[in-house]
Amino acid sequence: MNTPVPMPGVHALIAVASGKGGVGKSTVAANLAAAFAARGRRVGLLDADIYGPSIPRMMGIGGTPMAADGDRIQPLVSHGIACMSIGFVVGEADPVVWRGPLVARTLEQLLAEVDWGPLDVLVIDLPPGTGDAQLTLAQRAPLSGAVIVSTPQDIALAAARKGLHMFEKVDVPVLGLIENMSYFICPHCGARTDIFAHGGAKREAERLGVPFLGEIPLDVRIRETSDAGTPIVIAEPESPQAQAFLSIADGLWAGIAPEQDGKAGPGERVQL
Ligand code: ADP
Repeated sequence: MNTPVPMPGVHALIAVASGKGGVGKSTVAANLAAAFAARGRRVGLLDADIYGPSIPRMMGIGGTPMAADGDRIQPLVSHGIACMSIGFVVGEADPVVWRGPLVARTLEQLLAEVDWGPLDVLVIDLPPGTGDAQLTLAQRAPLSGAVIVSTPQDIALAAARKGLHMFEKVDVPVLGLIENMSYFICPHCGARTDIFAHGGAKREAERLGVPFLGEIPLDVRIRETSDAGTPIVIAEPESPQAQAFLSIADGLWAGIAPEQDGKAGPGERVQL
């Protein structure tokens, strides 16, 4: 069964993907969710990274989501964002050793059996790479599209390219590439260092003919705020780092909103 699970209360679903782990995919997913919420949208965040769920820590939330008898599971709410994570069920440090069919079934439950709506946008943090879990999500979630997070260097970009081809194969539009850890500004002297080189994702986006959505610096406050459970877009909304996420979220919204209902434009709130 490869038909998408119907999610009538959710206006747009955006998957955040990466070709490999550790490039900041979850950090970007959490901050994009926060950026949509800062623009007044109703936002959900689904942590589908079954092998390394980090959304509970990044959103500063834990506990067991409950369902009243026969009802759908209620997401946990943090910073005004409806959150659901496999980490609420298995714990962040527990290894998940599941076979493919169980992974697929669990992901389907996270879509269909959670009381998500009404939402303007559901951001989905995918596991890294291009395995079963990503395919299940790409086929079973009614995705508006996917964004791919990469660091600037070649090895990460090669992995991102694979991710892009996977989405193309299953007809999920690629909304664009984001370059994370794009450059580093020394907090002491202000000098800039391109630790993982710079601009690789932009060049790759041009080469592949997909939008380049923007770049996020490598920055200690981005790491600290994530670790402390309040993404930088919420903790320090005026900072240049938060503004980088906000401007990417605005660009993304401009890309999906008109296509979704034919009338909402950038900056307009969608009425469900
Ligand atoms: P992934 O989801 O790709 O595995 P994470 O989002 O979990 O990656 O990020 C891995 C680590 O790098 C985390 O400790 C996170 O706080 C940190 N990190 C991610 N992006 C940045 C950034 N732009 N600046 C500083 N640290 C970052």
